[in-house]
Amino acid sequence: MRVVLLGPPGAGKGTQAQIIAGQLGVPAISTGDIFRANVSGQTELGRKAKAYMDAGDLVPDEITVAMVRDRLAEPDAKAGFLLDGFPRTIAQAEQLASSLAELGNKLDRVLELVVDEDELVRRLSGRRMLVDGQMVQRDDDKPETVRHRLEVYREQTAPLSGFYESEGLLSRIDAIGEVEVVTGRAMQALGAADPEQPTQG
Ligand code: AMP
Repeated sequence: MRVVLLGPPGAGKGTQAQIIAGQLGVPAISTGDIFRANVSGQTELGRKAKAYMDAGDLVPDEITVAMVRDRLAEPDAKAGFLLDGFPRTIAQAEQLASSLAELGNKLDRVLELVVDEDELVRRLSGRRMLVDGQMVQRDDDKPETVRHRLEVYREQTAPLSGFYESEGLLSRIDAIGEVEVVTGRAMQALGAADPEQPTQG
């Protein structure tokens, strides 16, 4: 299965991506995680991405699209994947469709995690992640950057919802509730869309 997980920062994409990908038996590919690993590893890619990330802006499409294309060409992504945090612009979505078409593939489903904005701000300001054994706040989870990231989401990423809806690929998932309840809703949406499901009779 080839799945995209869409949703604003703080909607629980990272958590759900890991669980859903595990259940589907496909790799969860998070562009944010790949960028963060490159920033900590002080690679050329990390050096290019860091200023954009710190400001809460999107890393330019030409950098991001090439990185995803390389990642999707790796053997573990051949049979399927779950993309978390990509695409984030219509241009990225179009590039993704054409990269997949070159391989004779296409997306099976796009899940949009839906959470209202007050709840997002609450979640993001309290969010911590584990780095070297310590719980730390991500630099881009500071309140002023959070507001900007939500604005970037509204302006650049939210239009993807309509884009994928018009392609008949979108399932909106209510992402408020216990983690496993939200996972259940997502799996139900995927089950209904699973082209590999055997038909009766
Ligand atoms: P995330 O962990 O998905 O919230 O991503 C953290 C940051 O990485 C974002 O605020 C962007 O700066 C950058 N980033 C992640 N994915 C993308 C993408 N698809 N396009 C552009 N920038 C991205």
